[in-house]
Amino acid sequence: MIQVGIDFGGTKVEAAALDAQGNYLARVRAPNPGAYDAAIETVRDLIAQVEQQAGGRGTIGIGAPGSISPTTGVMRNANSVYLNGRTFREDLTVALGREVRLANDANCLALSEAVDGAAAGARVAFAIILGTGCGGGLAVDGRLVEGPNGVAGEWGHIPLPWPTPQETPGPRCWCGQHGCLEMWVSGTGLRHDFAAATGVQATGEAIIAGFRQGEPAAVAAFERYVDRLGRAIAVLVNIADPDVLVIGGGLSNVGEIYERLPALVAPRVFSDRWSARIAPARWGDASGVRGAARLWNDPADAQAALKVRA
Ligand SMILES: [Zn+2]
Repeated sequence: MIQVGIDFGGTKVEAAALDAQGNYLARVRAPNPGAYDAAIETVRDLIAQVEQQAGGRGTIGIGAPGSISPTTGVMRNANSVYLNGRTFREDLTVALGREVRLANDANCLALSEAVDGAAAGARVAFAIILGTGCGGGLAVDGRLVEGPNGVAGEWGHIPLPWPTPQETPGPRCWCGQHGCLEMWVSGTGLRHDFAAATGVQATGEAIIAGFRQGEPAAVAAFERYVDRLGRAIAVLVNIADPDVLVIGGGLSNVGEIYERLPALVAPRVFSDRWSARIAPARWGDASGVRGAARLWNDPADAQAALKVRA
C-alpha cells in the first residue's frame, strides 16, 4: 500500500509517498504557485512524480493550514488565501480521479505523531503547534478525531483560562474574539507580550536567548509564557485527559518548556494526581506531509479510495 501525502504550505508544496511502515518511497517539492488553477496542477504534477518514483498508485491526503469544512471541503482561514471559499478537496478529487482527504496542519501533526511518532501507542494523544499561530489536534487509538463540525482539537481559539486582571480581556484575535490562546501561547504571542512589557520588539529566539542568559525582562516573559501554556494545557487535560501531549512548531525546540510544564499543569487539573508524557514532535516539519499521508490509514477505506471515480 502506498500512501501519498501533500503538505500544502504557504511558500512550498511538498509531496511524499510512504509505505505501510512509514518509510519514504519518494519526496518532492515545488514552490506554492500562488493561484488556484495552478495549485491544482502543481498538486497533480507532484503526485505524478512521487507515484512514478514509488512505482504505484497511492491514496491521497492533503494537509493545509486553516480549517476545512468537513462536508464540502470548502477552505476557511487558509494562509494561501486564494484557496478560501474554494472546494479544493472536491476539485482535486476530480483532477486526480480518486477521493482525496484533507485536514489542517495541526490535525496532520496529531495523526503523524500518533501513528509512529512521539505518541505512538497512546490511547489519547493531543498535539499542539506553537509556532506563528497555535493549533491543536486530537487522535484516539491512532485515528484522528475531527468531529461533525471539523473543529475537534481547535485549541487556539478558546480563551486563556484563569486570566489575571492584566490579562483581561486580552489582545483582540483575528478570529474576532479577545484573549484567544493563539494571542498568548503562539510564538507571536510571546513576542507581543514581551513588547507590551518592555517596549522592545524582539524575535522569539532573542527572547529565549535572553531568558537563558538570565536577563530579567526575558525571564519574566518566559515565566508568563510557560504559566499561560500550563493553564491552557490543564483545560484540555480536564476535557480529553491525553496520555501524551505532543508539541510541534518553533517553540517545541525550547527544552525548558518540558521541564516546567508538569508542575504548572498538575495543580490545575481536577484530580489528585496527573501524569502524562509531554514530548516534542518526532517528525518535526515532516509531520504535515506524513500526517496527510496517514489520513487513509484504514486498509479497507484505502481500497475504496483507489477505485477510479467516474
Ligand atoms: Zn481567536
